[in-house]
Amino acid sequence: MAREKGSVSIHTENIFPIIKKWLYSDKDIFVRELVSNAADAISKLKKLVDIGEADIDKDTKFVIKVVINKDDKTIRIEDNGIGMTEEEVKKYINQIAFSGAREFFERYKDKTDESQIIGHFGLGFYSAFMVSKKVQIDTLSYMKEAKAVRWISEDGTGYELDDSDRSERGTTVTLYVADDSLEFLDEFTMRNILEKYFAFLPYEIYLEDASKKSGKEDEKEEQSKPVNDTNPLWLKKPKDCTEEEYKEFYKKVFHDFNDPLFWIHLDVEYPFNLKGILYFPKLKHEFDTLEGQIKLYYNQVFVADNIKEIIPEFLLLLKGVLDCPDLPLNVSRSFLQNDGYVKKLSAHITKKVGDKLISLYENERENYNRYWDDIHPFVKYGCMREEKFYDRVKDIVVFKTINGEYVTLKEYLEKNKEKHKDKVYYVSDEKQQAQYVKLFKENNIDAVILPSLIDNHFITFLEMKENSVKFCRVDSDLSDGIKDEASKTDEATEKAQLESMEKLFREMLNNDKLKIKLENLKNTSVSAVLLFSEYSRRIRDMSRMFGGTDAGAMFPEDQTLVLNKSNNLIQSLLKIKDCEDRKEDVKLICLQVYDLALMGHRQLEPEALEKFIERSNQILERLAAV
Ligand code: ADP
Repeated sequence: MAREKGSVSIHTENIFPIIKKWLYSDKDIFVRELVSNAADAISKLKKLVDIGEADIDKDTKFVIKVVINKDDKTIRIEDNGIGMTEEEVKKYINQIAFSGAREFFERYKDKTDESQIIGHFGLGFYSAFMVSKKVQIDTLSYMKEAKAVRWISEDGTGYELDDSDRSERGTTVTLYVADDSLEFLDEFTMRNILEKYFAFLPYEIYLEDASKKSGKEDEKEEQSKPVNDTNPLWLKKPKDCTEEEYKEFYKKVFHDFNDPLFWIHLDVEYPFNLKGILYFPKLKHEFDTLEGQIKLYYNQVFVADNIKEIIPEFLLLLKGVLDCPDLPLNVSRSFLQNDGYVKKLSAHITKKVGDKLISLYENERENYNRYWDDIHPFVKYGCMREEKFYDRVKDIVVFKTINGEYVTLKEYLEKNKEKHKDKVYYVSDEKQQAQYVKLFKENNIDAVILPSLIDNHFITFLEMKENSVKFCRVDSDLSDGIKDEASKTDEATEKAQLESMEKLFREMLNNDKLKIKLENLKNTSVSAVLLFSEYSRRIRDMSRMFGGTDAGAMFPEDQTLVLNKSNNLIQSLLKIKDCEDRKEDVKLICLQVYDLALMGHRQLEPEALEKFIERSNQILERLAAV
């Protein structure tokens, strides 16, 4: 061939700064582009062989080699794929590769945010120049009589075309690494990059360090093993995968020592192509925030983690791999958001997740209950984020009760409709609300345990969705079941007693906002219980959550002191409250009853505690009076 020089019609002065800026955060993309090209070259050849268009050695093992050499500062990417003829180099490299770069420039010149570009595909071969001062291609086409070609370019604008001494079919791209990119000559760095993008490429990739003259045995062994797993589990048919394989794959890909709880193997061919495995991880400890990772692949090539536009947001709490070869990944995020295909895909995944949960609930209720503590934040979050998901799983949302059972909302309401229709009693802190829980348990009244932050939002959400349902914390309201309706006296007496007690307590406690109730509780040993209005507490919680520092002052606590008429002390109090000579006793009793009720709810403030101790001593002194 006559040596040929030329230039490609592209103004690199314009493009380089933009591409450089974009690559700043993702400089390793050139590896992905060049190794992807090598893989494509192999795929193309295999196709030709399949249809009888290419005749190659039957025993051919298709491989990609990445060879780094610190001595001459080069990186070689070699494949034994389709190769290129001189015409093809001119067409594909000089014209197409460079026009790809131009197109990239046109499309993204106005975008300042690099994250706008999701797949980063389309820049291709040209990205080699981002880390190289010179790029050389040596290639030999699969075609009979083809001649090997060498293409060299030093700056991405001019090129030289010449004969090459390459004797085997395929392509080698040699990068003469620029001084600001020498880190890519490090074996460890390169291995990491290859593992990141190509852990599951269908063709074996080998990494070699040519500058290591006499490699140690274990290093040699490392180099003779492919970097990747060419047959990832998600490509197998679900029926052919074992439980062990799923677990092992999970641990390897997500570097988690724990087994996953369960998983969903997606294997869709119609109406779109989607394969993958979604894992439900085990929370490490109770207050672990769920942080998942969904790795997206395009024909076994890694694209990115956690792409919100494709995967419903709540699923990002899971861990998994998704391979979507039909996705238009080289388009902008805003396009994806509006793409009908993406919507269908995302709806399909949501449906599959719902189906899996339903099947667990129906067929393995025990396991489902056991998993619930780990999966409930995910399910609840999903319900709130995705209407469709909520509709699908609403009947299998369960609640753990104070008696250790797991019940659905329906089951709970059905079971308790006689005692407290439409009301769901809940405990948010079993320790703090222990007194109330005891009261509930003693009277055989069920309450559910909702200890997580997400529960606050979730119950509000449920009340909105399920019209009549009302969630009441156990310290906000006393269930009718706790009351002993039989021992009620006549209405007029009740009313008079209530009024006089309210007057008394307000005066003694010097608190004219305090609400008083007189009830006959089944439990006779408790003198009084303090209740805090569910509504006012929620407002306070909410305002605190949104950073209101002075929630206490803005929304004062709405307290109700329930005096238990079945209790002897309260009975006595009713009798002596108006006796002139017992004034001092009455005062002591009122204050002490209130403090005791408050202590069932929380610790007393230091000042109140001091007074409580002082008063207790006074009472004992009176008892001991001789
Ligand atoms: P894309 O891969 O997106 O088409 P590239 O700029 O990466 O764009 O490559 C341009 C073209 O050059 C490819 O489509 C292919 O025809 C050719 N090419 C690049 N690398 C190789 C290779 N290793 N073997 C054979 N052909 C290649």
